[in-house]
Amino acid sequence: MSRVYNYSAGPSMLPLEVLEEAQRDLVDYQGCGMSVCEMSHRSKQYDAINNECLSLIRELMNVPDNYSIILVQGGGSTQFEAVPLNLLKTGKADYIVTGNFAKKAYKEAIKYGDMHVAASSEDKTFTYIPKTFDLRDDADYTYICQNNTIFGTRFTKLPETKNPLVADISSNILSEKMDVSKYGVLFAGAQKNIGPAGVTVVIVRNDLITDGMPICPTMLKWKTQVDNNSLYNTPPCFSIYMTMLNMRYLKAHGGVEEQQKINEYKAGLLYDFIDNSDFYTNKVNKEDRSLMNVPFVSPTPELDAEFIAQASKSGFLSIKGHRLVGGMRASIYNAMPVSGITDLIEFMKKFELAHK
Ligand SMILES: *Cc1c(COP(=O)(O)O)cnc(C)c1O
Repeated sequence: MSRVYNYSAGPSMLPLEVLEEAQRDLVDYQGCGMSVCEMSHRSKQYDAINNECLSLIRELMNVPDNYSIILVQGGGSTQFEAVPLNLLKTGKADYIVTGNFAKKAYKEAIKYGDMHVAASSEDKTFTYIPKTFDLRDDADYTYICQNNTIFGTRFTKLPETKNPLVADISSNILSEKMDVSKYGVLFAGAQKNIGPAGVTVVIVRNDLITDGMPICPTMLKWKTQVDNNSLYNTPPCFSIYMTMLNMRYLKAHGGVEEQQKINEYKAGLLYDFIDNSDFYTNKVNKEDRSLMNVPFVSPTPELDAEFIAQASKSGFLSIKGHRLVGGMRASIYNAMPVSGITDLIEFMKKFELAHK
């Protein structure tokens, strides 16, 4: 079997052991004579999977008791509208726009109320995280995208807000320690750091679980899923099962604390190599660099295209940068092994020598 290094921004790599365990159980889940794909979501077996997934997320992220965790569908993008629909009371909210996903969330929210851009880094093509914010204390919430997948930036310090902080953590959930008590709402599509596509984790402080705006659809109302232990309708059972396996794997390998050390080490290797090179460049403000997504360019767009083509032939897949940025981007989520960084650096050295 030959496995490649997959630098895709998402869906991304999963640990081989997790895939193999799912494979072993695919046809006959623990002697019950059927696959999790075929199983009723009202069965005893599935109930155990759902509960274990939820409790492992709670344990790994150290989620306080006054927060609820739900598993929903629709990806991170559906939460762009769920956030205003659940949280708006005065009709006002503030958005810190640090990239494409924050901008999309802002544009979605405009439909439901008075949205204000409290800061933006679009003036420098989102290569930094703003440090000052024009926040309105009487707004219902303040919104951030904590790790900017496309541009390779992240908040290392959270903005201080008088109202609940809402954070999209789709591309950095479980990659570094987070103090959940600092947030009102956290959400993440699974396919970057925790499981296959199809499931989205939403963590909400209990006082923010209400009926929301009168127009809030039942399916987008967090309360609907909280009241039904995420079983209001048919959940993406197999994605949740795989996520549960991956959570078990993370717990068995030292949890978030250990994973953060590995992630800092991996990202450090790659950034150091790029910083010491006069061939490759990372344009992001150093203190705002993402641990998960590392964009870089070579001296010319032609060389970038050549790099991507040769990398792909050599088993370094999906390393093309997002169309908004160009160049390359290595997404190095939790499941990317250290060898995926050291081998990539060797490849980059060889490419540089051949094209200098
Ligand atoms: C990928 C991504 C999204 C979109 O997620 P979907 O699950 O595809 O809707 C939203 N926010 C961030 C930060 C992302 O990286």
